[in-house]
Amino acid sequence: MRVALTFDAEHPDRPVGRPGVEDELLSLLNDRGVAATFFLQGRWVESRPDLAARIASAGHAIGNHSHFHARMPLLTDEGLRADIVQADRAIRAATGVSPKPWFRCPWGHGARDPRVVMALRRQQYRHVGWDVVAEDWEPGRTADDLIRDVLAGIRAFGDGAVVLLHAWPASTLEALPGILDGLEEAASTLVTVADLAARDLSAAADPPTAGENPGR
Ligand SMILES: [Zn+2]
Repeated sequence: MRVALTFDAEHPDRPVGRPGVEDELLSLLNDRGVAATFFLQGRWVESRPDLAARIASAGHAIGNHSHFHARMPLLTDEGLRADIVQADRAIRAATGVSPKPWFRCPWGHGARDPRVVMALRRQQYRHVGWDVVAEDWEPGRTADDLIRDVLAGIRAFGDGAVVLLHAWPASTLEALPGILDGLEEAASTLVTVADLAARDLSAAADPPTAGENPGR
């Protein structure tokens, strides 16, 4: 059974318990020999170019997570183009890697908006949603909550599940060894979104109700 762990790396719009979580997360993935997919926010990349470069050189797949982490459907056509291109440039400048064709709309908003979909297509991008979400951005979530929900979600979905996680919550970092152990026990194969390219990954999008889940 294939599983794609995806991490959104971004400026969190809530206080983070402690800094340096992203660095430790990368080291952990490296120690366990795991390849994942990282969706990088352009502005975050500009503030942490060293870390963005480390993500790419570790061999993880790279996607674009917009520049300003805005709600894409609220942008004008020109605003959409500018946001997508600005993030693309920031990511390529820091990592030397093109994030195309992988794009994740913040909160999944715009995944089914024809204007957003067209703007992405014009820049050779496609939205990548998710099948499994454990709300790791919620401050009250413990590592045990995340391990349980991620593994149950993967079991329920079956082969090729895309799992939405974030690179900054401490609980995600704490849950990761348990998640990887559980996947190993289930003899799962960890893949990147590139390995699932034949799938309609936008169909995996499960946009939440507008105004909710500010952490995504
Ligand atoms: Zn996000």
